[in-house]
Amino acid sequence: MEDLCSDLKFYDYYFESYSAVLNGFIGNFSVEQDLEDGSKEFVSKYGVKAFLPIAKNYSFSHYDDFGNSRSYGFKRTHLGNDLMGSIGTPIIAVESGVVYHIGWNQYGGWRIGIRSFDGKRYYYYAHLRKNHPYAENIEEGTVVKAGDVIGYMGMTGYSIKENVNNINVPHLHFGLQLVFDESQLDSHNEIWIDVYQIVEFLKRNRSSVVLSNKDSKDYSRRYDFSEDGG
Ligand SMILES: [Zn+2]
Repeated sequence: MEDLCSDLKFYDYYFESYSAVLNGFIGNFSVEQDLEDGSKEFVSKYGVKAFLPIAKNYSFSHYDDFGNSRSYGFKRTHLGNDLMGSIGTPIIAVESGVVYHIGWNQYGGWRIGIRSFDGKRYYYYAHLRKNHPYAENIEEGTVVKAGDVIGYMGMTGYSIKENVNNINVPHLHFGLQLVFDESQLDSHNEIWIDVYQIVEFLKRNRSSVVLSNKDSKDYSRRYDFSEDGG
């Protein structure tokens, strides 16, 4: 019998989709926890190791806005989820990975794109804060860990000129692109998924932050984290 799927161009996706979406979300990890004497120790765990993109104790609201139409620049669809909150809210890396894009983008304003270590997930965080968009020591090629502070919520974007607040309501635009093949990156074959339910799910796993640099007013995570459980 003929292989029913032999004519499908993207046949391998059927095998890869599950791992492409979830590989970085569940597994072994270790995370610091408080001891009674005020110090911390690492504890090995298995479970959800991805974090909500909004730091713990910062409020936000969202609804399933994936696919809504947008008109700035050209008519297009909204390929992410907008999380409305306050300017300066620390933005958290959902999954560990490498900073792939950073800097100004006409649509996203100050934005960061982070790729998972297996390359299959590209996380996009946009409209970061004017003048101070990024956390300390974040640049292209930087390795970040799930739960790290990577930047701050703002309202930049919709401008060719850099560092302009042209977004009406402060929010994080959070997007997740699946990359099955390198040729899809920055092409018309990008696969963005609806992350609304993922954001809902990640509400149970939020990263606690502390003011770590009083001069620069930068925040960083309270509890350190390590992949693989150690
Ligand atoms: Zn958006």
